[in-house]
Amino acid sequence: MNMIDTKPEISLSHYAGEIRQGNVVAFPTETVYGLGADAWNADAVAHIFELKGRPPDNPLIVHVNSVEMAATLVSEISEDARRLMERFWPGPLALILPKRPEVLDIVTAGLPTVAIRVPNHPIPLRLIEEAGPIAAPSANTSGRPSPTRAEHVRQDFGAEVPVIEGGSCQYGLESTVLDLSIRPYTILRPGHITQSSLEQVLRQPVRMVPSFEGETTGAPRSPGMKYTHYAPDARVRWMRPDELPRPDFPAAGTLYLLHRIRPGDVPIRGDRNLIHYGEDYTEMGRDLYDRFRMADLKGYSEIAIEPFGDSGEDVEALLNRIRKAIGG
Ligand code: AMP
Ligand code: MG
Repeated sequence: MNMIDTKPEISLSHYAGEIRQGNVVAFPTETVYGLGADAWNADAVAHIFELKGRPPDNPLIVHVNSVEMAATLVSEISEDARRLMERFWPGPLALILPKRPEVLDIVTAGLPTVAIRVPNHPIPLRLIEEAGPIAAPSANTSGRPSPTRAEHVRQDFGAEVPVIEGGSCQYGLESTVLDLSIRPYTILRPGHITQSSLEQVLRQPVRMVPSFEGETTGAPRSPGMKYTHYAPDARVRWMRPDELPRPDFPAAGTLYLLHRIRPGDVPIRGDRNLIHYGEDYTEMGRDLYDRFRMADLKGYSEIAIEPFGDSGEDVEALLNRIRKAIGG
């Protein structure tokens, strides 16, 4: 693990103090790095939107460290909500519930609901313990791939934002967002916690919104979903079946992300722009945004991804992010 940014003399209490004073701090979570501020401080939260260039109608997730702290933000915790919290918190599941009136409009973008979760990572848990609920979106400028390493946060914000170093994120894709304020309960964003595991706990069907719902009707349930997301400058596309047999494979300006095609199946000269995941989609999820950013830094014009099926661990979330990056 690379520790360049965490000077040993700067303790987590120092960063918690920064948050208490209304400043913004970036920190690791098990999903991606977050850009956090005191959820009860409107100016501090406004600063997050400014720094990211985030549209004001895209609400933030509030990070808490317990069901009790969640109860200070939401007006009611139903039996179903409680069951999910007990089963999946701390973990990559954000729950949308009716908010208490005192929750700031800037946090929820004026919606009557608020998204909350308990991150499964010691650093944000310590910050929350000392500073209270922290509103935090991903620590990237709007439209860029989410950061999965401290270095990515520095790429987007330079010295403007202090980053607590925490190495690479465990999952590398954002949390599952489940809306419990509507029926049927609806997954607004797939993540590591899957539709079927939610259905098992809730003992009822859970709806999954299609990757692009709302963009045609203009009425997305989750405001964030109407914006282009997760996209590098390089064009992301699916690899075509006729590409591999051609003599000019692999094309020099293209980065290939491969699953079933093995190292021995392809020409040696392409080994630098061929990344093999061997059907380990969890590993690809962990790696995806780093590859997107690396492709841009190295000047690739395209990222071609070998198509894969829609079943398997972490495939739900991965397919969603790839479709978003492709743009349809
Ligand atoms: P981010 O924190 O940047 O990963 O984005 C949080 C996601 O949760 C965005 O897609 C938001 O639109 C969504 N979200 C947050 N709060 C709500 C809410 N109250 N209702 C619906 N979606 C929400
Ligand atoms: Mg984000």
